[in-house]
Amino acid sequence: MPTTLVQDNACDVAMENFDTAADAIGLDNNTREMIKRPERVLTVSVPVRMDDGSIHRFEGHRVQHSSVRGPAKGGIRYHPQVTLDEVKALATWMTWKCAVVNIPFGGAKGGITCDPKRMSQGELERMTRRYTSAILPLIGPEQDIPAPDVYTNSQTMAWIMDTYSMTKGYAIPGVVTGKPISLGGSLGRNEATGRGVFYTIESACEHLRMPLQGASVAVQGFGNAGSIAAQLLYDAGARIVAVSDSTGCVYNRSGLNIPQLIHMKSLCGHVDGFPESEPILPHELLAVDCDILVPAALENMIHADNAGVLRARLVAEAANGPLTPAADRILESKGVFVIPDILCNAGGVTVSYFEWVQDEQHLFWDAQDIYNRLQRVMKTAFADVLRIHLDRKVPMRIAANMLGIGRVAEAVRIRGIYP
Ligand code: NAD
Repeated sequence: MPTTLVQDNACDVAMENFDTAADAIGLDNNTREMIKRPERVLTVSVPVRMDDGSIHRFEGHRVQHSSVRGPAKGGIRYHPQVTLDEVKALATWMTWKCAVVNIPFGGAKGGITCDPKRMSQGELERMTRRYTSAILPLIGPEQDIPAPDVYTNSQTMAWIMDTYSMTKGYAIPGVVTGKPISLGGSLGRNEATGRGVFYTIESACEHLRMPLQGASVAVQGFGNAGSIAAQLLYDAGARIVAVSDSTGCVYNRSGLNIPQLIHMKSLCGHVDGFPESEPILPHELLAVDCDILVPAALENMIHADNAGVLRARLVAEAANGPLTPAADRILESKGVFVIPDILCNAGGVTVSYFEWVQDEQHLFWDAQDIYNRLQRVMKTAFADVLRIHLDRKVPMRIAANMLGIGRVAEAVRIRGIYP
């Protein structure tokens, strides 16, 4: 349970982290004012004819936090708890994230407050197409490029690409990333976030002199990011002792069979009831005796009231914003090494960048090429952030923010102010 409203608001968390990092790099007030808040915020009404004939009005948002270093970039989330503040926070993190991995994008995010699990494919398609037409003035391959996020996927991107292309009169695959391969998607995009998480964990283990082989891992959230990271850690010889999703948690001290768990989740949609495991409660997953914890669900899952129970030595933030600032302080006092979200999960946007480059060039790379390029980007970014962490003696999160915010501030200074 969160302790205070302030800590529960992702936007306030983003602002608090910004201020701490901006202070640390001595950012002047003028530049702060220019880069802290979103450039554009759009809220749209999305009426949808439901399967029973009724019309339901959903609310959607698209926030462009920054286009200083290139087109705004960020996913679209479908979730009952989507709020404008959450979308603003996620858009802000995208800006710093793209700068941390040094790709020429700004930051954006979108979302619709809805419960996709209770909607049919037809309803989801109609909602996606209407939302796309409502945000159409903002998006485009040179302007703002959406991608999948929580409860959206390559099919959602295909609908957006089709709706956008139909209004222009010709196919424009570069308007979204995370598309199906048959529409100009990139090999390796589906696995990119989990793979990037894995590369940063590898680097952190080298730094901490902690062998990955045999390390015990707990994963909170078993969707795209969490399950792929778990699979790669499993392949590398780690023991995944606990996994949770929105329906429940499973635990096995000797290690869960991750390929089988992924298979079961793809068939039944949940991890609950997995053979050769025992059920545990969601809060017990955080207290599991493990070396590495991978939060891969939603924001603010680890906060002042539960951070104290963590036993992991390394926390790898596959999710965006899973730790509140209060949790950060508790983990720091316990000596836990945190790979912050804007570094840890940047593999997704990095391969999105590769996808966009391939679409623009009409020239496609093979999977190994993508993995090699991704590994290079992630390892370089990790080394850059680690250097600031060690040189300036600041937590990894602040170091990552210092790097990202510093690069955006530099671009603002060079561009100057218009008119
Ligand atoms: P997803 O929809 O594929 O998976 C989300 C998972 O979280 C599901 O397994 C769901 O059951 C689980 N979950 C939801 N509420 C939970 C709870 N209370 N406790 C435990 N599990 C819960 O989404 P995803 O794409 O894997 O995104 C997960 C996180 O990673 C989000 O924070 C997202 O912003 C971040 N992220 C994703 C990508 C990407 O490319 N997919 C990139 C960067 C960051």
